[in-house]
Amino acid sequence: MQYISTRGGMQPQPFSETLLEGLATDGGLAVPEQLPRIDAETLESWRGLDYPGLAAEVLALFATDIARDELTRMTRTAYADFGEPVVPLTPLDERITLVGLSEGPTLAFKDMAMQLLGQLLESVLERKDQVLNVLGATSGDTGSAAEHALRGKDRVSVFMLSPQGRMSSFQRAQMYSLHDPNIHNIAVEGVFDDCQNLVKMLAGDLTFKRSQHLGAVNSINLARITAQVVYYVWAWLRATDATGPVEVSIAVPTGNFGNILSGHYARAMGVPIRRLVLATNENNVLDEFFRTGIYRPRAAAQTLATSSPSMDISKASNLERFLFDLLDRDPQRIKDAWAELEVQGFLDLSAEQHRFTEEYGFVSGTSTHADRLATIRAVHEQSGLLIDPHTADAVKVARDHLEPDTAMLVLETAKPEKFSDTIGEAIGSQPRWPAQVQQMLDAPQKVTEMADDAQALRSYIEANALH
Ligand SMILES: *Cc1c(COP(=O)(O)O)cnc(C)c1O
Repeated sequence: MQYISTRGGMQPQPFSETLLEGLATDGGLAVPEQLPRIDAETLESWRGLDYPGLAAEVLALFATDIARDELTRMTRTAYADFGEPVVPLTPLDERITLVGLSEGPTLAFKDMAMQLLGQLLESVLERKDQVLNVLGATSGDTGSAAEHALRGKDRVSVFMLSPQGRMSSFQRAQMYSLHDPNIHNIAVEGVFDDCQNLVKMLAGDLTFKRSQHLGAVNSINLARITAQVVYYVWAWLRATDATGPVEVSIAVPTGNFGNILSGHYARAMGVPIRRLVLATNENNVLDEFFRTGIYRPRAAAQTLATSSPSMDISKASNLERFLFDLLDRDPQRIKDAWAELEVQGFLDLSAEQHRFTEEYGFVSGTSTHADRLATIRAVHEQSGLLIDPHTADAVKVARDHLEPDTAMLVLETAKPEKFSDTIGEAIGSQPRWPAQVQQMLDAPQKVTEMADDAQALRSYIEANALH
């Protein structure tokens, strides 16, 4: 299996080569030359596998340049601390079942892909006798998932910028309580955009980037997308253990379109998914796109800070991979589309809009702060279960798209304890921290404070990077 760029300017590469680079060299995103297929018989033959076993099967379809027993070893190690089963299914009521993706170390779904990416990176760097210094900016979730996945690795170090004084105490503790020598937390005097600009400045300096072996593990990383395909297969298998092979629908709290893109791939590969229900919060660029065919990214200043913060996006980085499929996998049409967006400020694909549901199964909806609170409260009253605000957005939109005779799965993307203020607002009392979380909150913290200054960051990296 080889990988190409959505913009057509990259020599086909094997899976391992796509791990170390975020973007393709031509500014496009790496995609499989053609998606692997999973036939009905193969799917059935996977029912007896545990999660790491299934992950090895699915990953083997994408990572054809990595030995099979090596993949098995990696999936077993990646998910060893998640509990059993790695991904539990919990019925909410007669119609809706939660798919638990937040059993990992940072209590959010990004661990699912990041833990496996950590294993993959280590193995590829070993084979190539290379080191990698991951440089990133975070407003909370991605940075902590990356750090927990890469801590203690010999050939990787992490330089993670975060905005000083702008994260919750939970988010700070989750990152700054790590004392591993290969983890460098840098609190920048500024906001998230300032952090991201510093990263762009340094990563855009190719000489510096090469000399310091800089790389990224952001949401467009292809290995993360493939690792996420696994839980769509798993969720379908578990939801149909009793019924046999029938279609199910799956609702996904969506920000950068990474999670649900993996659902799109799983469906295209042959997993019987009827609808992919895309849920946004008030930052509903993608709901607008899937309802109208008009894609109108917003400026950072127009992006609202909501109570489901991990979905507060202005543009959706991974959408290009879906557009590539929609536009007949023609790089010229992708380039034309972005040129059109550049000129007029929006992209008009309304002529293709009917295909979103008919061909690809997508439907969408928006959930607001009031919807989140009402949903968290209603679920708690009816079932005694607590769900986090992101999951609540998806439950709300899922309810609007229920169909008779089709089960609805909702991907649970975080534990409610991470967002205790909103939970408190919804049900009148805050959830208690599990003991292990309390321990983390009380632990001493390690962080380097820095001015919003590219030169200071350069010097810090030169002094501390692996070489
Ligand atoms: C990152 C994140 C999302 C959004 O996922 P995308 O892949 O960006 O669409 C939703 N919920 C939580 C809790 C997250 O951390």
